[in-house]
Formats: sequence, structure tokens, C-alpha cells
Amino acid sequence: MNSNSVTIIGAGLAGSLLSIYLARRGFSVSVFEARGDMRNAEVEAGRSINLALSDRGIAALREVGMDAFMLAEAVPMRGRMIHGVDGGQKLLPYSGREGEYINSVSRSGLNIALMNEADKYPNSTFIFNERCTDLDTATGEVSFASGRTVRSDTVIATDGAGSPVRQAMQRQMPGFEFSSRFLDHGYKELHIPPGPGGSFLLEKNALHIWPRHRFMMIALPNHDGSFTCTLFLAHKSDPPELAGGQSEWSFESLTDSESVINFFNTEFPDAVPLMPTLVEDFFANPTGQLGTIKCWPWNAGGKALLLGDSAHAIVPFYGQGMNCSFEDVRVLDGLLSSAGQPDWASVYEEYSELRKVNTDAIADLAEENFYEMRDRVADPVFQRKRELETRLEQTDPDYFSKYSMVTFREDMPYSEAHRRGNAQDELLMQICSSVDDVSELDLNDVAERLRQLDL
Ligand SMILES: Cc1cc2nc3c(=O)[nH]c(=O)nc-3n(C[C@H](O)[C@H](O)[C@H](O)COP(=O)(O)OP(=O)(O)OC[C@H]3O[C@@H](n4cnc5c(N)ncnc54)[C@H](O)[C@@H]3O)c2cc1C
Repeated sequence: MNSNSVTIIGAGLAGSLLSIYLARRGFSVSVFEARGDMRNAEVEAGRSINLALSDRGIAALREVGMDAFMLAEAVPMRGRMIHGVDGGQKLLPYSGREGEYINSVSRSGLNIALMNEADKYPNSTFIFNERCTDLDTATGEVSFASGRTVRSDTVIATDGAGSPVRQAMQRQMPGFEFSSRFLDHGYKELHIPPGPGGSFLLEKNALHIWPRHRFMMIALPNHDGSFTCTLFLAHKSDPPELAGGQSEWSFESLTDSESVINFFNTEFPDAVPLMPTLVEDFFANPTGQLGTIKCWPWNAGGKALLLGDSAHAIVPFYGQGMNCSFEDVRVLDGLLSSAGQPDWASVYEEYSELRKVNTDAIADLAEENFYEMRDRVADPVFQRKRELETRLEQTDPDYFSKYSMVTFREDMPYSEAHRRGNAQDELLMQICSSVDDVSELDLNDVAERLRQLDL
């Protein structure tokens, strides 16, 4: 056994980035991945093909020199393009500041780039087709479905939301707290192909949203001119008295091509002509679950640590799950830098204390943003509030909207962004509900009222 050996379970986004950070520090790193090497395989259909990469994720990539490479492949998204049922479109910028935008990147492209980078270090190895089945929290021994067992100085589990390592900790550690909360909504990925010559059939530099109160569709651009759409819809129909008179669309009610076409023609008529494989995609792609997982502790006496989705899976409505997991890696690395030969138990303890309050905050923010994207972006008061925020960001260097604090302020903990953002939002919604046009407002007066909140 190498005295500096680390076993990572899961070569997804967090595990692959972590392997670079640790290899760079000279640890002997072995990454065990249940699936085959994605560099030799077709991407699995329907598994979030692209993701929004923003400042926290970029900051973590920057430290290992991977930011410029990834951003060269990314499509910038400068705002939300809201699509009405009548086909009307309205762009709500993410920020009033230059250079504050999010980036659509390919999940597999990013994962592959990270693995290729890790492979440059002779002390980092990927072992594929090895499914972890158990961890002994007393010895740190990991067992695999193949019968293999592995011992190392420590284990870091980046094995995703269904983490078997977390399940082993739950079984073996008395008092281990675990909660999972699933939305009534699931998701399904759909596709808009590129236009002639790889052109974009919708505005290229936007995240498109079709908000319909009880459900919504979004679309993110891909580098090749296509868009990946995600439909967020209830699994089951509400009884009519709860559905508020609205159509009771649900995955359960969309059982054949006729119902799917009828649903899309009624709700997303401008998107339908752009989706030639709509019906095939709808039935071929799986319906995913959306949930929040919280657990504690993340640290099994220095023998193992949960990191990324295994510790804190969140719903995707702030586009932060990966960004947060990358920030996890950066924070952990920051603690190792002063640790010399690490005392894993105390490093993990400190890491967990630093991160938990922030991962809880982003979990709550992400759930709140689901309701905002689905219900409120079409609300005129909310739209005025976004317009006011854009104006404030253009004129007041000290003003950052909640979205900007979460997405563009890598220096601000999520918990602070949550607290400040919610207080600001409440005041601005109140101000915007009393005017029909934000140009009627005195920006200095609004800025003063914000300052009085004393955040
Ligand atoms: C629809 C959707 C959209 C999203 N959009 C965004 C977005 O725009 N921006 C953003 O920041 N985040 C987004 N996310 C969240 C993001 O996908 C996750 O937060 C991120 O993938 C977490 O990385 P991870 O490495 O912890 O887990 P994962 O990426 O899930 O990786 C886990 C890895 O562990 C492997 N594994 C699992 N079990 C085992 C086992 N038993 N043994 C060995 N290996 C195992 C898996 O095969 C996988 O490779 C989205 C999520 C969803 C569902």
C-alpha cells in the first residue's frame, strides 16, 4: 500500500477533476468507474447532454489550467429567452454587467477532457467497469462487484446521487442522517437539430425557456448548432380541483404519439417545427427523477469522504450541481495545501464544516428556482423586477442580484448569496408591484432602500 494512496469511486465530473487535483499534489490516485471508458463509447441517450458551466466551476477548472480549453468549446448564454404560447419571445439578460454570462458545455466533452488531463499524470489511473458495492468504514476497504477489494490511505466517493459508498456509511455508522426529497416532476431530454450549414434555429446565445406554470421546457445550445431540450413535467396528473382548471398534462398522460403531438402543439407550438424527431425522442429517452439528497456526516473517520452529488445531490434549476461539486474539489484542495502529509480525519472534518452550510443553501436555492422558472418568469411583476435588477447592475457597482451572486460571485459562499438574495428579492418585488414601468423608478432611491436592508 502506498502511504499517499487515494481511491476515488466514480469517474464522473467531480471524480475526474478531483483526480487531477490530487495527482498534481503527488498522491497515488486510482479512480474506479462502474461504466466503460466513455472515450470509447457512444454517449448514453437522455442523460443531460449539456450543462451550464459558470464562475464557480470555471474557477475550479482554472486552478488546473482547464478553463480556457473548456470555454473555447462552450456556447455563451447571456440571458433567458422566454417563449410565450403565442410564439412571442423576450430576452431577460442574466446580468447588467459585461462578461457575466453562463456557458453551455457538453457533459461528455468536459468529462473526457478532465480524464485526458488526469491521464497526463503517471500517478493517476482510471480503472473502468469496476462497480463498487461496499465500503468497510472501519478499515476503508472497498469491495467491487468483480470480487476485487482495494485498500488505500483514504477513499473519496464521487459516485453520484445513488452512491453505494453513502449507503454503506448509512448502514454502518450509527446516527448517520439521510434525507431524500423527490419532486413530483421528472425530466426528459429532447432534441432540436442544427439548421442548414450548422446554423442555430433559435437564438444561439440564450437559455430558452417555455414556462407554463405547472411545467416547462428549456433548451441549451450545443456547439454544433443543435439544442438539447429538457421537458420538466409532473409524473402524474393532478386531480382537476388541484390543477386550477389547467390541462392535466403529465408524463403519465402522454402515452402515445397523438397525445405527445397534441401536448406540444398546444403548449410549445413554436418549438414543434424545429423538433423533427420529437415523438421518437420522447419515447426513446428515459424519464429522469429530480431530487434533493442531504446527509451527514460526510466523513467516515478519515477512511472515506462523500463529495459532489453523493453528499448533496440537488435539483438542476440553478445550473449549479456540477459547479458546486467542482467548488467542493477546490475547497478540499485548499485544505490539503497546508496539510503536508494529511491527517485525513481532520481535513475531512474541516472540509465538511466549511461546505455543509453552503451545499444546503444551494440545495434550497435550486428548489426555489424551480418554482421561479416555472411559475414566475412569465409574471409581469417578476419581469419588471429582472429589468430593474439589470438597470441596477448597470449603474450600481455594489448591486448583485441573487442570480448573479450564486452564478458569478465565486468569492461569495452560497449561504451568503441565499440570505442576501432572498432579502433583496422581497424588497424589489414589493417595489415592482407598485409600478407599471420600471423607468418610473428613481434608481438612487431603490439603491438607498437596498442599502437600508443592511445585508
Ligand atoms: C437534467 C440535469 C441537468 C443538469 N444541469 C446542470 C447544469 O446545467 N449545471 C450544473 O452545474 N449541474 C447540472 N446538473 C447536475 C450535475 O449533473 C451533477 O451535479 C454532477 O454531474 C455531479 O457530479 P458527480 O461527479 O458528483 O456525479 P456524477 O456526474 O453522477 O458521476 C458519478 C459517477 O460515478 C459512477 N458510479 C456510480 N455508481 C458507481 C459505483 N457503484 N461504482 C463505481 N462508479 C460508480 C457513475 O457511473 C458516474 O460516472 C444537472 C443534472 C441533471 C439531472
